[in-house]
Amino acid sequence: MKPDHGPLIYEGKAKRIFSTANPDQVLVHFKNDATAFNAQKHQEFDGKGALNCQISSAIFEMLKAEGVPTHYLGLISEDWLLAQKVDVIPLEVVIRNVATGSLCRETPINEGIELSPPLLDLYYKDDQLGDPLLTEARLKLLQLITSDQRKGIESLARRVNELLTSFFLNIDLLLVDFKLELGVNCEGQLLIADEISPDTCRIWDKRNLDSEARILDKDRFRKGLGGLTEGYGQILKRIQGV
Ligand code: UDP
Repeated sequence: MKPDHGPLIYEGKAKRIFSTANPDQVLVHFKNDATAFNAQKHQEFDGKGALNCQISSAIFEMLKAEGVPTHYLGLISEDWLLAQKVDVIPLEVVIRNVATGSLCRETPINEGIELSPPLLDLYYKDDQLGDPLLTEARLKLLQLITSDQRKGIESLARRVNELLTSFFLNIDLLLVDFKLELGVNCEGQLLIADEISPDTCRIWDKRNLDSEARILDKDRFRKGLGGLTEGYGQILKRIQGV
């Protein structure tokens, strides 16, 4: 169902953001497009938007119940949600519990190694630059955030990791790694923004030990394994207790 909305504010790879009658709120539409490798690989999957929207909504509800500030205000329909309007900080915060992906491509760390404490990396959010990994010195040089904001972002991200890890463990899912984006609302409050879904998290099925079959997230698309919506559907079913 398509809600009444104002003009399109922004169109990204997986979502469209529309204005509403309230200048401090936006409507977010989740698209069926999947992209990987900085949009070099692209495909549409029927139902993907609705799955991601409902999974994100359930995760934001859980975070809200735990007192974590997010931009989420409510689920409007299966593929639309209402959120606070934020100025997005151009950083991608990645937390890794298990080594895989770019960490293993770019360093000699072996795939599957448990990372304790979880590794937190900051990337500069810029598609044209390919979202480069930031060093401490480059982060300072860019002056994107104050050192207090930096501390706030890091502790918020680590708290989200703890909550999400146990949320997923309860339904036999392993949170391997994930990406968060943050924003600042009209009151200057730091919030988790964007989405938290199998597009932005790596999630493995603990009931399946096969190294490919256990993958339930966007790696199914990145690795050409097929079964993307089945994987996302499995995550939503477990969240809903089906
Ligand atoms: N991620 C994301 N958007 C990005 C880059 C990464 O959502 O632009 C997520 C990705 O799904 C994974 C985690 O962040 O859960 C770590 O990704 P990684 O750095 O390993 O990158 P990749 O191997 O996907 O290139």
